[in-house]
Amino acid sequence: MPNSSAPHANASHGNTPATQNGPSGIAVPLRLRNSERIPLSDRSMAQQTITITIIGGGLVGALLAQQLAQRGFAVEVYEKRPDPRLSGFLGGRSINLALAERGLQALRTAGLADDVLQRAVMMRGRMVHGRDGNSGLQRYGVDDSEVIWSVSRGALNMLLLDAAEAAGVQFHFEQSLVSADFDAQRIRLADAAGVERELPVGMLIGADGAGSAVRATMNAHSPLGERIESLGHAYKELEIPPAGELPVGVLQLSGGHDQYALEPHALHIWPRGGYMCIALPNTEGSFTVTLFLPAQGAAPSFATLPDAMAAAAFFSEQFPDLLPLIPRFSEDFDSHPVGTLSTLYLQRWHLDGRALLIGDAAHAIVPFHGQGMNCGFEDTVVLANLLAAAPNDSAEVFAEFQRVRQPNADAIATMALENYVEMRDSVADPHYLAKRELGALLAERAPQHYMARYRLVTFSHVPYAYALERGRAQDRLLEQLLRDTPNVADIDIEAAARLFRSNLEPLPRLRHG
Ligand SMILES: Cc1cc2nc3c(=O)[nH]c(=O)nc-3n(C[C@H](O)[C@H](O)[C@H](O)COP(=O)(O)OP(=O)(O)OC[C@H]3O[C@@H](n4cnc5c(N)ncnc54)[C@H](O)[C@@H]3O)c2cc1C
Repeated sequence: MPNSSAPHANASHGNTPATQNGPSGIAVPLRLRNSERIPLSDRSMAQQTITITIIGGGLVGALLAQQLAQRGFAVEVYEKRPDPRLSGFLGGRSINLALAERGLQALRTAGLADDVLQRAVMMRGRMVHGRDGNSGLQRYGVDDSEVIWSVSRGALNMLLLDAAEAAGVQFHFEQSLVSADFDAQRIRLADAAGVERELPVGMLIGADGAGSAVRATMNAHSPLGERIESLGHAYKELEIPPAGELPVGVLQLSGGHDQYALEPHALHIWPRGGYMCIALPNTEGSFTVTLFLPAQGAAPSFATLPDAMAAAAFFSEQFPDLLPLIPRFSEDFDSHPVGTLSTLYLQRWHLDGRALLIGDAAHAIVPFHGQGMNCGFEDTVVLANLLAAAPNDSAEVFAEFQRVRQPNADAIATMALENYVEMRDSVADPHYLAKRELGALLAERAPQHYMARYRLVTFSHVPYAYALERGRAQDRLLEQLLRDTPNVADIDIEAAARLFRSNLEPLPRLRHG
């Protein structure tokens, strides 16, 4: 994508304003925390002697490492997998991801946003594909300043590794954390051959993802209050190849253009009630399709689709327009793993000043708001600024990091779960569509008092916890207005705007990021 098309979203500056409940019960930002507004140039660069050890060089670990190095820390990263720049990226999770304003803002702070956007595909909204084969675009925002971006996980990870190395970070690949002795301040690592060694560490940060080994070893030292809630639904990835690899007859029906078999600038959804498929575009013309389905139980579930033949029969019934676009359906279905989906809740994210969890290691969520990485990227800016402001007080910094970020992590976990129902079901529901239509009218008529929750989460930097509460309050009023009539045309929009103005605080000042 050209840089000129980078989004300029409505967004408050900074990251996570402190909040308190306003008269309407909605948390309103009061002030930016000191740690979040220290200009980089003013920060002490005297932290060279402090070494920070990060376990995990994935998306969050690599970006955090870069930001800490930029602020003058010496950073060592130990990553389980081989260097993807030498041996190719070993995936395991989604092939591509949606990058939104929060992630972009973190990348801007790191000076990397333009580079990332050059390798991304703009998605303007949801292209909803009905059972009848008809499709329609539901825009995410008001215009092209409010879009999300499809990025390749592997390409993004490699870009972040390059940037971190350029900032002075030392990476050690094929080094898997086995355990840590926090009292002796030593970690045990295993190489690819399983040969173990021990190292002394100071500050240890676990950015090793949802199955974090750092978390397990912290939990063994003193329990973190861990709770993992399985969604009960799982996923499998399939591929729509570039248009050139598909028969002309198939392409005529699918509405694609140029090298893409479908409209490229959209996140495609085939909602089917209790399950769905989605597809995100890749830069070279393909789409990655993800089927989300209950893991067990009565049909349809992954348990009732034991092989590609059963799955193809299911697709030809439920996704007849999608199946012809996946010519390698059988190979993909039989060879790609079924991924599980869970939400992780912890009571404690750190062990005094010795160890801290960040990103998915602290708060893995289900992917339906496309915010896991975005939230983890937001984490990195908050933590890097806190540490830069108080480099010798890691216990205080880690406690403050949890205090600031945990309510927001909990809120996006809730919204991500709610969004699964919205995506697989509500996007095709007339009541949901009426609420969307009414919301769009109110956003024009009373922009200070109504902004769709999706936009607050995706295109602004207001705390997730604020977006959750504000969304609930707005939703109650929309329901009230639609109680007596299902028809938006029958509603007096001026009176509706007055209802919002008299019941809700003005939205916090949102400005371009
Ligand atoms: C299907 C799916 C779709 C998603 N879509 C989106 C989306 O559209 N938008 C979005 O924002 N988020 C999305 N997410 C969430 C996103 O993938 C995660 O939030 C993000 O990857 C978290 O980054 P992380 O660095 O914390 O963890 P990870 O990306 O899991 O990285 C952890 C790293 O630690 C390494 N590691 C693991 N164990 C060890 C060890 N013992 N020693 C050393 N290294 C270790 C791993 O090899 C890996 O490199 C999606 C997730 C899934 C499953």
